[in-house]
Amino acid sequence: MELLTNAYSAENFRRQAHDLVDQLAGYLQSAQDQTLSTVIPYQSPDENYRYWQADFAEGSGDLNAFFNEVISRSTHLHHPRYMGHQVAPPLPVAALAGLLSGLLNNGMAVYEMGLVSNPLERIVSELLAQRIGFDPQTSSGLLTSGGTLANLTALLAARAVHAPTVWQAGSSEKLAIMVSEEAHYCVDRAARIMGLGTGGIIKIPVNDRFQMRTELLGDYFRQAQADGLRVFAVVASACSTSTGAYDTIPPIADFCEKNGLWLHVDGAHGGAVVFSEQYRHLVTGINRADSVVVDWHKMLMVPALATALVFRRNKDAFQTFHQQAQYLWADQQSTDWFNSGKRTFECTKLMMSVKIYAILKTYGEKILAENIERLHSLAQYFAGAVASAPDFTLALWPESNIVCFRYQPENDMAAVNERNSLIRQRLLAEGRFYIVQTTLNGAVYLRVSIMNPLTTTHDLDALLTEIRGMV
Ligand SMILES: *Cc1c(COP(=O)(O)O)cnc(C)c1O
Repeated sequence: MELLTNAYSAENFRRQAHDLVDQLAGYLQSAQDQTLSTVIPYQSPDENYRYWQADFAEGSGDLNAFFNEVISRSTHLHHPRYMGHQVAPPLPVAALAGLLSGLLNNGMAVYEMGLVSNPLERIVSELLAQRIGFDPQTSSGLLTSGGTLANLTALLAARAVHAPTVWQAGSSEKLAIMVSEEAHYCVDRAARIMGLGTGGIIKIPVNDRFQMRTELLGDYFRQAQADGLRVFAVVASACSTSTGAYDTIPPIADFCEKNGLWLHVDGAHGGAVVFSEQYRHLVTGINRADSVVVDWHKMLMVPALATALVFRRNKDAFQTFHQQAQYLWADQQSTDWFNSGKRTFECTKLMMSVKIYAILKTYGEKILAENIERLHSLAQYFAGAVASAPDFTLALWPESNIVCFRYQPENDMAAVNERNSLIRQRLLAEGRFYIVQTTLNGAVYLRVSIMNPLTTTHDLDALLTEIRGMV
């Protein structure tokens, strides 16, 4: 019992927490001023496994030393030369809210276990719904664990509304969705989980800017009908992951209205632009969607995971899951917003809303716009630098904070592909920058997503210099 009493002791916690905060503040400083010179301390999976295996074999030890190893052996998202995947360097206040909610651990599924987080979830969802342009009287939203799960939840809601018998009776007809071939892989995965199979995922080709060719929707729709499929939803990407291309929503919305289909906008990454006057034009027409997904943990500076799913009609959100759970709520039919678990896949759920609300409460909504505008303007700068460099080429002018480019000092395309793969490997091994790569029309491109607003134009110039110096 003494072990437990000590482990729960408030005094021990105070000391451990102070130590950790000191350590994290020092880390943040060194990442931001780049005295920490490595962005990613890359080691192979097996090397890292062996390190931790040996550490574990030593048995219990010092907490500070453990935290220190975790910090130094991780990828440093707060380093200005982190430009890899689309995950936010979280605002420190949101991380603190994470510590707070981790300790309180109010699991949210029912109101009594989420007295604070359920109302905060409603408030931040109402804010987002309003910025999307939904009628605040009739829309609603929720938070869930990631864009992948949110897209699945949205498609389940779409099916519940358009094919309501499936939930009870299982599938009898062949259902299908339509989506651009550039959509995030999780849409494909969601469709397969729902039993739609390969045939039920109709991929619409993209144009030279990697946007859905909306003029083809009618032909693909008629072909699907001729093949005995019933299409119930179209997914628009806002933006796509590989290149950051935004599908043009109005013609997709027209098509959905004409044919009685559900329009889902996967704005996991780019939906955040609804917070910026300057960039919200990228998602013109988003207010005509039936459902929209936005990740708070991408351009909105919240620690992962924190994803919004917003419905144009509140009642649709309650169609997704109909199950009796007498021990949780007395009346399954009532549309009570305050019992989180009725509308979400999760039962116990993280108090995500507290992290989002902490940002809004501390800095106001304007910090969201400022971040989005900063990330986009850095991407525009970088695209300009690449476009004006004779030895680099740009895949396409970026709409978002994602830029695909390659080093191309020669014309032999096979050699250029090989060279760029090699560059990416060396960058990873040296660790002074973290960027990723992608393949576009069979060609290898380097890819940055600028996620850290403290990145400077100097850091972006330095990336080009670093790449040139590698050959
Ligand atoms: C990131 C992303 C997803 C997946 O979201 P997670 O939060 O990583 O699960 C889905 N769609 C798009 C367009 C994305 O950018």
